[in-house]
Amino acid sequence: MPKAFFVDTSRCTACRGCQVACKEWHDLPATETKQRGSHQNPPDLNPFTYKLVRFSEHRIKGKVEWYFFPDQCRHCDVPPCKDIADSYVTGAVVQDEETGAVIFTDQTKRLAADEAEEMTEACPYNIPRRDSGSGMITKCDMCIDRQQAGLVPVCVKTCPTGTMNFGDREEMVALAEKTLAKVKKDYPNAAVIDADEVNVIYLVMDKPELYYEYVTADNSGIGNGVTRKEFLAGLARPAK
Ligand code: SF4
Ligand code: SF4
Ligand code: SF4
Repeated sequence: MPKAFFVDTSRCTACRGCQVACKEWHDLPATETKQRGSHQNPPDLNPFTYKLVRFSEHRIKGKVEWYFFPDQCRHCDVPPCKDIADSYVTGAVVQDEETGAVIFTDQTKRLAADEAEEMTEACPYNIPRRDSGSGMITKCDMCIDRQQAGLVPVCVKTCPTGTMNFGDREEMVALAEKTLAKVKKDYPNAAVIDADEVNVIYLVMDKPELYYEYVTADNSGIGNGVTRKEFLAGLARPAK
Protein backbone atom coordinates (compact mmCIF):
# COMPACT_ATOMS: atom_id res chain seq x y z
CA MET A 1 0.00 0.00 0.00
CA PRO A 2 1.57 3.38 -0.98
CA LYS A 3 2.45 5.55 1.98
CA ALA A 4 2.27 9.30 2.33
CA PHE A 5 2.93 12.16 4.73
CA PHE A 6 0.51 14.93 5.53
CA VAL A 7 2.45 17.98 6.74
CA ASP A 8 0.10 20.46 8.40
CA THR A 9 2.21 23.62 8.52
CA SER A 10 -0.48 25.42 10.55
CA ARG A 11 0.73 23.40 13.54
CA CYS A 12 4.48 23.79 13.06
CA THR A 13 6.33 25.74 15.78
CA ALA A 14 9.74 25.45 14.07
CA CYS A 15 11.14 23.57 17.05
CA ARG A 16 13.36 21.68 14.54
CA GLY A 17 12.94 18.40 16.43
CA CYS A 18 12.28 16.67 13.10
CA GLN A 19 15.43 18.14 11.54
CA VAL A 20 17.64 16.99 14.40
CA ALA A 21 16.01 13.56 14.66
CA CYS A 22 16.54 12.99 10.92
CA LYS A 23 20.25 13.71 11.32
CA GLU A 24 20.56 11.52 14.40
CA TRP A 25 18.74 8.54 12.88
CA HIS A 26 20.84 8.67 9.70
CA ASP A 27 24.05 9.29 11.62
CA LEU A 28 24.77 12.40 9.57
CA PRO A 29 27.56 14.78 10.57
CA ALA A 30 26.82 18.24 11.90
CA THR A 31 27.02 21.15 9.49
CA GLU A 32 29.13 24.10 10.58
CA THR A 33 26.89 27.16 10.75
CA LYS A 34 26.90 30.69 12.03
CA GLN A 35 24.28 33.17 13.16
CA ARG A 36 22.88 34.79 10.02
CA GLY A 37 19.99 36.60 11.63
CA SER A 38 17.50 33.87 10.69
CA HIS A 39 15.92 30.99 12.55
CA GLN A 40 16.61 28.86 9.44
CA ASN A 41 19.84 27.00 10.03
CA PRO A 42 21.72 25.65 8.12
CA PRO A 43 20.78 28.07 5.36
CA ASP A 44 19.83 25.31 2.91
CA LEU A 45 19.55 21.55 2.46
CA ASN A 46 22.98 19.97 1.98
CA PRO A 47 24.34 16.42 1.44
CA PHE A 48 24.12 15.81 5.21
CA THR A 49 20.84 17.60 5.96
CA TYR A 50 17.83 15.81 4.47
CA LYS A 51 15.23 17.84 6.34
CA LEU A 52 15.28 21.60 6.83
CA VAL A 53 12.74 23.74 8.63
CA ARG A 54 12.55 26.79 6.38
CA PHE A 55 11.68 30.12 7.96
CA SER A 56 10.38 33.31 6.39
CA GLU A 57 9.19 36.56 7.91
CA HIS A 58 6.64 38.91 6.34
CA ARG A 59 4.80 42.05 7.28
CA ILE A 60 1.17 41.44 6.35
CA LYS A 61 -1.52 44.04 7.06
CA GLY A 62 0.80 45.75 9.54
CA LYS A 63 1.53 42.53 11.44
CA VAL A 64 4.73 40.50 11.43
CA GLU A 65 4.02 36.90 10.37
CA TRP A 66 6.42 33.95 10.63
CA TYR A 67 5.96 31.08 8.19
CA PHE A 68 7.57 27.69 8.82
CA PHE A 69 8.03 24.99 6.18
CA PRO A 70 9.64 21.64 7.14
CA ASP A 71 11.15 20.87 3.72
CA GLN A 72 12.07 17.38 2.48
CA CYS A 73 11.87 15.18 -0.63
CA ARG A 74 8.24 14.82 -1.79
CA HIS A 75 8.63 11.18 -2.94
CA CYS A 76 6.96 11.98 -6.27
CA ASP A 77 4.58 9.39 -7.66
CA VAL A 78 6.47 9.52 -10.97
CA PRO A 79 9.86 10.89 -9.91
CA PRO A 80 11.67 12.91 -12.61
CA CYS A 81 14.98 12.42 -10.73
CA LYS A 82 14.65 8.66 -11.31
CA ASP A 83 13.60 9.12 -14.92
CA ILE A 84 16.81 11.04 -15.67
CA ALA A 85 19.09 8.83 -13.51
CA ASP A 86 17.74 5.64 -15.14
CA SER A 87 18.86 6.87 -18.53
CA TYR A 88 22.48 6.93 -17.33
CA VAL A 89 22.99 4.54 -14.38
CA THR A 90 20.54 1.74 -13.60
CA GLY A 91 19.91 1.47 -9.88
CA ALA A 92 21.13 4.95 -8.94
CA VAL A 93 17.56 5.84 -7.96
CA VAL A 94 15.06 3.16 -6.99
CA GLN A 95 11.41 3.29 -5.97
CA ASP A 96 10.23 0.93 -3.26
CA GLU A 97 7.20 -0.97 -4.59
CA GLU A 98 5.60 -1.42 -1.19
CA THR A 99 5.74 2.17 0.10
CA GLY A 100 6.45 4.29 -2.99
CA ALA A 101 9.61 5.68 -1.33
CA VAL A 102 12.12 7.13 -3.84
CA ILE A 103 15.60 6.16 -2.72
CA PHE A 104 19.01 7.36 -3.92
CA THR A 105 21.64 4.60 -3.72
CA ASP A 106 25.44 4.75 -3.61
CA GLN A 107 25.33 4.19 -7.38
CA THR A 108 24.53 7.90 -7.70
CA LYS A 109 28.29 8.46 -7.45
CA ARG A 110 28.65 6.82 -10.89
CA LEU A 111 26.71 9.66 -12.53
CA ALA A 112 29.05 12.01 -14.42
CA ALA A 113 28.97 15.66 -13.37
CA ASP A 114 26.70 16.75 -16.23
CA GLU A 115 24.40 13.73 -15.71
CA ALA A 116 24.15 14.48 -11.99
CA GLU A 117 23.37 18.09 -12.74
CA GLU A 118 20.63 17.09 -15.18
CA MET A 119 19.17 14.73 -12.60
CA THR A 120 19.18 17.24 -9.76
CA GLU A 121 17.84 20.01 -12.04
CA ALA A 122 14.89 17.77 -12.95
CA CYS A 123 13.62 17.85 -9.37
CA PRO A 124 10.75 20.34 -9.23
CA TYR A 125 11.31 20.87 -5.51
CA ASN A 126 15.08 21.55 -5.51
CA ILE A 127 15.88 18.62 -3.22
CA PRO A 128 18.90 16.50 -4.27
CA ARG A 129 22.38 17.57 -3.13
CA ARG A 130 25.71 16.08 -4.25
CA ASP A 131 28.57 15.50 -1.82
CA SER A 132 31.72 16.70 -3.55
CA GLY A 133 33.80 14.23 -1.49
CA SER A 134 32.05 10.90 -2.18
CA GLY A 135 30.20 11.99 -5.33
CA MET A 136 26.98 10.59 -3.86
CA ILE A 137 23.70 12.43 -4.30
CA THR A 138 21.55 12.33 -1.18
CA LYS A 139 18.14 13.22 0.22
CA CYS A 140 15.35 11.94 2.49
CA ASP A 141 14.84 8.16 2.14
CA MET A 142 11.39 8.10 3.84
CA CYS A 143 13.17 6.29 6.71
CA ILE A 144 12.69 3.08 4.74
CA ASP A 145 14.70 1.08 7.30
CA ARG A 146 12.33 2.14 10.07
CA GLN A 147 9.28 1.33 7.97
CA GLN A 148 10.64 -2.13 7.22
CA ALA A 149 10.92 -2.60 10.99
CA GLY A 150 7.29 -1.51 11.47
CA LEU A 151 8.18 2.00 12.68
CA VAL A 152 7.08 5.39 11.36
CA PRO A 153 9.66 7.85 9.96
CA VAL A 154 11.61 9.44 12.76
CA CYS A 155 10.55 13.01 11.84
CA VAL A 156 6.94 11.93 12.37
CA LYS A 157 7.73 10.13 15.61
CA THR A 158 9.56 13.19 16.95
CA CYS A 159 7.13 15.95 15.98
CA PRO A 160 5.36 17.10 19.16
CA THR A 161 2.65 19.21 17.51
CA GLY A 162 0.90 16.93 15.03
CA THR A 163 2.42 18.73 12.04
CA MET A 164 3.99 15.53 10.70
CA ASN A 165 1.49 12.75 9.91
CA PHE A 166 2.20 9.48 8.12
CA GLY A 167 0.14 6.54 6.93
CA ASP A 168 -1.59 4.96 3.96
CA ARG A 169 -1.85 7.41 1.09
CA GLU A 170 -5.66 7.41 0.95
CA GLU A 171 -5.86 8.17 4.66
CA MET A 172 -3.38 11.08 4.37
CA VAL A 173 -5.15 12.59 1.34
CA ALA A 174 -8.45 12.45 3.25
CA LEU A 175 -6.85 14.07 6.31
CA ALA A 176 -5.37 16.84 4.12
CA GLU A 177 -8.74 17.57 2.51
CA LYS A 178 -10.56 17.54 5.85
CA THR A 179 -8.03 19.89 7.44
CA LEU A 180 -8.12 22.26 4.45
CA ALA A 181 -11.92 22.47 4.63
CA LYS A 182 -11.60 23.33 8.34
CA VAL A 183 -9.04 26.15 7.94
CA LYS A 184 -10.24 27.65 4.64
CA LYS A 185 -12.87 29.85 6.35
CA ASP A 186 -10.28 31.76 8.37
CA TYR A 187 -7.40 31.41 5.87
CA PRO A 188 -8.82 31.86 2.34
CA ASN A 189 -5.39 31.40 0.71
CA ALA A 190 -4.83 28.03 2.43
CA ALA A 191 -4.02 25.22 -0.01
CA VAL A 192 -2.99 21.59 -0.22
CA ILE A 193 0.06 21.33 -2.47
CA ASP A 194 0.42 19.01 -5.48
CA ALA A 195 -1.45 16.16 -3.73
CA ASP A 196 -2.06 14.23 -6.97
CA GLU A 197 1.65 14.06 -7.79
CA VAL A 198 3.54 13.62 -4.53
CA ASN A 199 3.51 11.56 -1.36
CA VAL A 200 4.58 14.33 0.98
CA ILE A 201 1.46 16.47 0.98
CA TYR A 202 1.73 19.93 2.53
CA LEU A 203 -1.01 22.20 3.77
CA VAL A 204 0.06 25.86 3.63
CA MET A 205 -1.98 28.69 5.13
CA ASP A 206 -1.05 31.38 2.64
CA LYS A 207 0.34 31.72 -0.88
CA PRO A 208 3.07 29.07 -1.37
CA GLU A 209 5.65 31.61 -2.57
CA LEU A 210 5.51 33.33 0.82
CA TYR A 211 7.00 30.14 2.35
CA TYR A 212 9.68 29.25 -0.20
CA GLU A 213 10.28 29.37 -3.95
CA TYR A 214 10.03 25.60 -4.44
CA VAL A 215 6.99 24.75 -2.30
CA THR A 216 5.04 23.82 -5.42
CA ALA A 217 6.11 22.36 -8.75
CA ASP A 218 4.25 25.21 -10.48
CA ASN A 219 6.84 27.85 -9.80
CA SER A 220 9.90 26.79 -11.76
CA GLY A 221 10.67 25.92 -15.37
CA ILE A 222 12.92 23.14 -16.68
CA GLY A 223 13.65 24.93 -19.95
CA ASN A 224 12.31 24.79 -23.52
CA GLY A 225 9.17 26.51 -22.31
CA VAL A 226 8.14 23.43 -20.30
CA THR A 227 7.30 23.96 -16.63
CA ARG A 228 8.43 21.36 -14.15
CA LYS A 229 4.82 20.51 -13.44
CA GLU A 230 4.17 19.89 -17.15
CA PHE A 231 7.33 17.76 -17.25
CA LEU A 232 6.05 15.70 -14.31
CA ALA A 233 2.65 15.28 -15.92
CA GLY A 234 4.26 14.09 -19.15
CA LEU A 235 5.96 11.13 -17.49
CA ALA A 236 4.18 7.77 -17.58
CA ARG A 237 2.07 7.20 -14.47
CA PRO A 238 2.18 3.67 -13.07
CA ALA A 239 -1.07 1.79 -12.33
CA LYS A 240 -2.01 1.94 -8.63
FE1 SF4 B 1 13.02 13.06 -6.81
FE2 SF4 B 1 12.76 15.63 -6.20
FE3 SF4 B 1 10.59 14.11 -6.43
FE4 SF4 B 1 12.26 13.78 -4.38
S1 SF4 B 1 11.05 15.57 -4.81
S2 SF4 B 1 11.35 12.15 -5.65
S3 SF4 B 1 14.24 14.20 -5.32
S4 SF4 B 1 12.05 14.62 -8.06
FE1 SF4 C 1 14.51 12.46 7.43
FE2 SF4 C 1 13.25 10.11 7.55
FE3 SF4 C 1 11.84 12.35 7.76
FE4 SF4 C 1 12.94 11.71 5.43
S1 SF4 C 1 11.33 10.60 6.49
S2 SF4 C 1 12.98 13.74 6.39
S3 SF4 C 1 14.83 10.70 6.08
S4 SF4 C 1 13.43 11.61 9.18
FE1 SF4 D 1 7.59 21.68 13.00
FE2 SF4 D 1 7.08 19.26 14.07
FE3 SF4 D 1 9.42 19.75 12.86
FE4 SF4 D 1 8.89 20.89 15.24
S1 SF4 D 1 9.14 18.69 14.83
S2 SF4 D 1 9.79 21.87 13.41
S3 SF4 D 1 6.70 21.25 15.01
S4 SF4 D 1 7.41 19.73 11.88
